[in-house]
Amino acid sequence: MSNQIGVHALVWVGGWSPDEARLAIESSREAGYDLIELAALDPDSFDADMTARLLQENGIGAGVSLGLSDATDVSSDDPECVARGRELLASALALTRDVGGSYLGGVIFSKLGRYAAPVTARGRANSVESIAWLADKALDAGVTLGLEFCNRYETNVLNTTEQTLAFIADVDRPNVVAHLDVYHMNIEEVSFSGAVHAAAAAGKLGYVHLGESHRGALGTGSIPFEEFFRALHEVGYQGVLTFESFSSRVVHPTLSSTLAIWRDTWDDGMVLAKDAREFIRTGFGA
Ligand code: MN
Repeated sequence: MSNQIGVHALVWVGGWSPDEARLAIESSREAGYDLIELAALDPDSFDADMTARLLQENGIGAGVSLGLSDATDVSSDDPECVARGRELLASALALTRDVGGSYLGGVIFSKLGRYAAPVTARGRANSVESIAWLADKALDAGVTLGLEFCNRYETNVLNTTEQTLAFIADVDRPNVVAHLDVYHMNIEEVSFSGAVHAAAAAGKLGYVHLGESHRGALGTGSIPFEEFFRALHEVGYQGVLTFESFSSRVVHPTLSSTLAIWRDTWDDGMVLAKDAREFIRTGFGA
């Protein structure tokens, strides 16, 4: 297998100062990962050159993920809000390219957070058009866009694989893929295996997040990893698998509260990350 294994930056640090970046990147390497996923909700705050240098020194790759906010929601009916969202996404794309990454994903198609009403037809169309616009820029930068559908409390645009594949068909760009996160799938999907097969059949299974049902240590919750890993092998998945976990021990200024991280699910990121790496090796074989 050629799958690369990633780890989300929030396993290590909540910010991205030079000291935090060094700690996160060196720790990712020490724990046996190939990639680190940067949480770039505020992409302009990242020092891309410093990050690229540290990645290179450590032989670690990077992907970038983020969720939009109320002020930058590209699924809004308000054109000014959509324009601000596009500007933020363009910055995130530039960061991805400048750190040497080839993947930009997350909730880049809507706000990351709870909505009080369903998405409107105009809002969904604004989101489709924005992702198509970003995909054209991303193609020039050699970057693939991943749409991470989330549970109903974290977006109202895409909650399932089926919705995501329909959205991707509407976007109609070659470099836009579905990003499957088992934490969200556990809440919304009828079948883990069915979702994997549907995404693969559409040629759009592009990125995977491995997270437990309680956001803590892999294998200690209720996610059916055996079924999920088996399905990935059945479809010959060759893409990235990124371990994602959150605890109130590591706090990001906005993301932690948006994700409702209210308690300690673990204390030591290194123990957690090494255990997760071993869980993936044992359970998936990579
Ligand atoms: Mn995720």
